[in-house]
Amino acid sequence: MTATVLKDRDGKAVPQDSIEEFRTQIRGALILPGDAEYDSARSIWNALIDKYPGAILRCQGTGDVAAAARFAFENNILVSIRGGGHNVGGRAVCDDGLVIDLSNMRAVHVDPDAQTVRAQGGALLGDVDRETHLHGLAVPLGIVSKTGIGGLTTGGGFGWLARKYGPACDNVIEAEVVTADGSIRTASANNNPDLYWGICGGSGNFGVVTSFLYKAYPLSTVLGGLIAFPREAASKVLRGYREVMSRAPDELTAYAALLWGPDGTPLTALVPCWIGDDKEAGHQAIKPLTEICEPLVVDVQEMPFPAKQSMLDAAYGPGSRNYWKSAYLKALTDEAIDMIVEHSEGMTIPGSGILIEHCAGAAKSKANGDNAFAQRGHDYLIAILPLWTDPADDADQIAWARKMHDAMAPFSTGGTYLNYLGADEDSAIEMAFGENLIQLKEVKRKYDPTNFFSANANISP
Ligand SMILES: Cc1cc2nc3c(=O)[nH]c(=O)nc-3n(C[C@H](O)[C@H](O)[C@H](O)COP(=O)(O)OP(=O)(O)OC[C@H]3O[C@@H](n4cnc5c(N)ncnc54)[C@H](O)[C@@H]3O)c2cc1C
Repeated sequence: MTATVLKDRDGKAVPQDSIEEFRTQIRGALILPGDAEYDSARSIWNALIDKYPGAILRCQGTGDVAAAARFAFENNILVSIRGGGHNVGGRAVCDDGLVIDLSNMRAVHVDPDAQTVRAQGGALLGDVDRETHLHGLAVPLGIVSKTGIGGLTTGGGFGWLARKYGPACDNVIEAEVVTADGSIRTASANNNPDLYWGICGGSGNFGVVTSFLYKAYPLSTVLGGLIAFPREAASKVLRGYREVMSRAPDELTAYAALLWGPDGTPLTALVPCWIGDDKEAGHQAIKPLTEICEPLVVDVQEMPFPAKQSMLDAAYGPGSRNYWKSAYLKALTDEAIDMIVEHSEGMTIPGSGILIEHCAGAAKSKANGDNAFAQRGHDYLIAILPLWTDPADDADQIAWARKMHDAMAPFSTGGTYLNYLGADEDSAIEMAFGENLIQLKEVKRKYDPTNFFSANANISP
């Protein structure tokens, strides 16, 4: 095997003196193959991904990001952008190229009067929650605290606040973006509005977002927890879940999941979160979920929002192998539920799951085209999430997810969620961007005509 070195897109090694010259322009660590930190720096959340970058720059600020873009552009080097490294398709890393790693850029500043939050592009959800919570505020992001805001926000961003306030990308007021030419631009409704439109849902196609300015909302505690039923009750629980959620106020989000208990017991679970002030109303809204049939466990209580945000962290820690498939459903019909239950029988490894997200409410209220996030008209998203550790199980686990995904096709809108795209799903990218694709290509041609940012959910100019 030939040793990995930094190469240009034509496969030619970048001269060492160019690399040394680049070092003089940056503050952060430039990690090269053979360095002690190289293997940990190239690792991401999904252990199924095993890429060997030619260099990884741990950026120490916007200046480093701009220097990296200029260096890579001038030397025709492939770049990838690493935020939290949670992308299941491994789009944070690339072979032979340069990883622009934002994991040291995690500062968060809250303006409690304006109810806004400025967060650097490498911040994790937990970084934002920790700071906003001090002021009784929260930003609509996702549901696992180690996820990066960068990928999550540029790809949409669904969490407990989305039904009330929209996905993360709808709550970006402004972003600082380093574009392909290394220039630093402000993107907002008034500054470079086309770039602003594009980064709110267009993934990392237009540049590196070095900071986001978000809207925040008053929120201190929530009602959250878990309602668990036997797996055999899945058919009934999912039907009941659909009925309850069809009339639930937007303050209540609940996901349904076919998963496993800590002791390996197969379960059907409902995971609710009530974000309203009136906790009694919250208990009343959640109660019907506990009454669908006889639960094994009802553990729903008031808790600080950051506690709710880290409840699932242990179940989705790094180091396991993951392959995801997702589909927006036309409706959660009885037939769709029956198909879900039938295919759940092929799910064999505890830790795996089938997640059904109810994503209506404010997530739907903007029109397609208001920003680049296109998948708005749907009530339900299904995610098929095998998780395993032994490489010998790769083929079976991937085959199960693909088979179930194929079986769900008749119930799907054809749309898929950009943030859940697997490594082999590039053909689904255009469907994920939907009717916004034409405008996205225009913005791409303006800000990145050479497709410098291509190691992503790529929009070809
Ligand atoms: C355990 C787990 C839980 C999750 N929970 C949710 C959830 O609740 N809701 C939800 O919507 N999604 C969720 N996701 C999906 C998640 O949104 C995507 O995986 C997303 O890509 C993760 O962002 P990241 O910054 O960690 O990505 P990375 O893997 O670091 O980067 C992926 C891509 O995002 C883009 N990107 C990242 N940072 C920037 C930046 N600063 N500027 C420009 N582009 C950037 C780049 O194109 C990059 O290739 C979850 C994923 C995991 C693994």
